[in-house]
Amino acid sequence: MNFEDIQAVKKLLSEPQKIVIVPHKNPDGDAIGSTLALWHYLKNRGQDATVVVPNDYPKFLKWMAGNDEILNYERENSQSKAKIEAATLIFTLDFNHLGRIGQMEEPLKKLTVPFIMIDHHQEPANYAEIMYSDVSMSSTCEMVYNFIDYLGDADTITPEMASCIYTGIMTDTGSFKFSSTTATTHRVAAHLIEKGAKNTEIHHRVFDTNTPGRLHLLGSALNNMVILTDYNTAYMTLSQEELDVHEYQKGDTEGFVNYGLTLEDIIFAVIFIENKEEGIIKISFRSVGNFSVNEFARNHFEGGGHNNAAGGKSNRTLLDTAAYFESLLPDYKSALNTHSIS
Ligand code: 5GP
Ligand code: MN
Repeated sequence: MNFEDIQAVKKLLSEPQKIVIVPHKNPDGDAIGSTLALWHYLKNRGQDATVVVPNDYPKFLKWMAGNDEILNYERENSQSKAKIEAATLIFTLDFNHLGRIGQMEEPLKKLTVPFIMIDHHQEPANYAEIMYSDVSMSSTCEMVYNFIDYLGDADTITPEMASCIYTGIMTDTGSFKFSSTTATTHRVAAHLIEKGAKNTEIHHRVFDTNTPGRLHLLGSALNNMVILTDYNTAYMTLSQEELDVHEYQKGDTEGFVNYGLTLEDIIFAVIFIENKEEGIIKISFRSVGNFSVNEFARNHFEGGGHNNAAGGKSNRTLLDTAAYFESLLPDYKSALNTHSIS
């Protein structure tokens, strides 16, 4: 964040504001952790702040302090709309174009109040007066830590805020293993633990929450895995029927895609998940090294994300989507075969 932006934020926050904090649709650990951490910070400064999420999120994220104060735009629609319409300042966190917030795009687009973006995805859209956008960052949570630090308030981080921030850093870095994890990320995590983040408990609360249904669903996904050694690629599929049989709950498929990357020599892993209700196939892409899944998702599956983690969707059937995906690979053969893992 540059000096002018920090000064502009300081000025905005020196006045009482009605603030709405928004993460992307289908919020993940980084989205919920960053919005709640910022919410605590703003409340502690005496601001009127509300987190409004576009839709529901998994149970394993619902333990963070402040969770019960979150408004769900789908479920608490009129209350959410009223907050948005009355807002004098909007923060958008962990996304960078308004197409990522589903139905909430409409009321937000109508606003004329300042927007502040805090985000680490590529190619930010131009809707925010103040943009703290940095693709080199591990997570939006690490950026919220920096944001608070830039405002001179790192020493005011409470144990609740520390746990929220730690959660998003942990989930977005795959527990500190992805290449976005820097020495600074570890320093921030260390400071958060000093500030009261319950690191062991957080790992347990987020990752040790399996149900028998989820493990059986993982079994189906692993069974369905197709390994394309010529392209160092592995993909999995899950049909709506398989989801139904194993009583799928939101968040159950989180992390499944990563299993493909645990195969030796596999550098590109994908999961295709049928969603009959929305009439789409939701896709997650992961890579290690320099193969950009962000570009791949952008070019072929109406998506995007980061170099090593991206998402997208398809309107074809599950089988046709997988076949179409396979048909794209020959064009990427050399990229998939000349990679370095770093
Ligand atoms: P996931 O595969 O876990 O849903 O998402 C991985 C990354 O890609 C996240 O950073 C997420 O924000 C981004 N992402 C997921 N789905 C989409 C999408 O449909 N469009 C865009 N632009 N990004 C996505
Ligand atoms: Mn993120």
